[in-house]
Amino acid sequence: MKATAAQSLGRCYAMDDQAVDNRETHLVRADLPARAHPGLGMAGSGLNRAAELRGDTAAMRAALSDTNTRILPMWQGRFLFVAEGSVPDPALGQGLASVPPDHSVLNGAEEPAVFLGLSNGHHVFAQDVCGWVPDDTLDPQARLAQDRIYDATLPAGSFFADLRGQMMALDARAAELAATARGVLGWHRSHRFCAACGAPSIPEDMGWRRGCAACGTSHFPRTDPCVIMMVVRDNAALLGRSPHWPEQMFSCLAGFMEPGETVEAAVRREVFEETGIRVGEVRPVASQPWPFPASLMLGCVAVAQSDEITVDPVEIEEALWVSRERLLRIFAGRDDVIRTPRAGAIAGWLMREWLADTLIPRQKF
Ligand SMILES: [Zn+2]
Repeated sequence: MKATAAQSLGRCYAMDDQAVDNRETHLVRADLPARAHPGLGMAGSGLNRAAELRGDTAAMRAALSDTNTRILPMWQGRFLFVAEGSVPDPALGQGLASVPPDHSVLNGAEEPAVFLGLSNGHHVFAQDVCGWVPDDTLDPQARLAQDRIYDATLPAGSFFADLRGQMMALDARAAELAATARGVLGWHRSHRFCAACGAPSIPEDMGWRRGCAACGTSHFPRTDPCVIMMVVRDNAALLGRSPHWPEQMFSCLAGFMEPGETVEAAVRREVFEETGIRVGEVRPVASQPWPFPASLMLGCVAVAQSDEITVDPVEIEEALWVSRERLLRIFAGRDDVIRTPRAGAIAGWLMREWLADTLIPRQKF
C-alpha cells in the first residue's frame, strides 16, 4: 500500500506542475490558449474575462458602439455558427459566428448584453435574443424541429443550432466562449426574480450579477458541480444507462454533488446508490463545463472494491461491466448493443483515456 500512496503522490505533483505551468502561461500572455485535454470539448482556452472592465461604464459603452465588437446571439438556447470550412474568426476562433452591435437580430433582446471578455484584442459579448422572429413562413413548431435555422437577416452562411451538436466543430476558444455564454445567459433566463423576496431583479456588472432593488440582495451566476466517474476493476469498466436515454447509449455513472460533500464522497455515494458497487480510491482527473443548463462535470477515475451489480431502477435502467477489449470494439462502432460515445463529452474522453492507460498506470491496481 505504501508504494501505491507514493505513486499517487507523484501523480498529484505532476498534475500540480501542469497547473502551475498553465497559470504562468496566463501571466505571460493572458490570451494564449492554455494546454487543453485533446478530445475533450469545452476544456478551456485561457480566455481573458477582463472582469475589471465590467464596472467601467465608459469602456463598455464604447465597446458596444464599436463595429469590431463581437456579440454572440443566443436564440431559444441556440447559438450562431458559421458554415463548414469558413476561415476562423480572429476573436471567436473556429466555428462560432457573431453579429456587430448594430445588427437587427439584437432587437429581439429583452435584457442587456453580457460581457464575456477580451479575445485577441476584441471585446466579446453574448445576448439572449429570445424575441427575434426569423424572416420565414414556417410555423414555430416546424422551425424548432429543424437542426439548423438559416435566415436572410443573419450573416451570410450562418445558422442557429444547438451547441451540443456543434461542439466538435469548435476550437478551444470558441468552445469556451459558447459555454460561458450558454451558462450565464441560461442563468439570467431562469433567475429573473429575487430568491430572497420575490421581486423582479435586474442584470448588473455587465451580466455577472443580478441585483434586487426591493431588498438589496445580489445574486450571482451559479454552477452546479456534478461528479462523473470511470469506475474500473481489473480489466473492466462500469457503464450504465438512464431510462430516458437514446437506444444503445451507455455512459459513465454520474450524479450531482450534495451540500457538504467532497468530490470523493459524492463519487462513492453515487456509485453505491446506482449500482451497489463499493468504491475505494477516487482521483479527479479533468473537468468540463456542461452548461445544459449549469453543470460542471468533475471527471474522476474510481477503483471498485466489489463487482456484483444491484441496479437502482429509479436512477438507472441497466449497468454492466465492459472489458477493455469490448470498449475498443465500441469505439470502433462494432458492438451490437452499445454505441460509440458522443465525441467531445467527458464520458467518452474518460473511456478513451482509460483505454490509453493515461488515467492511471495499469500496474498500479
Ligand atoms: Zn429581493
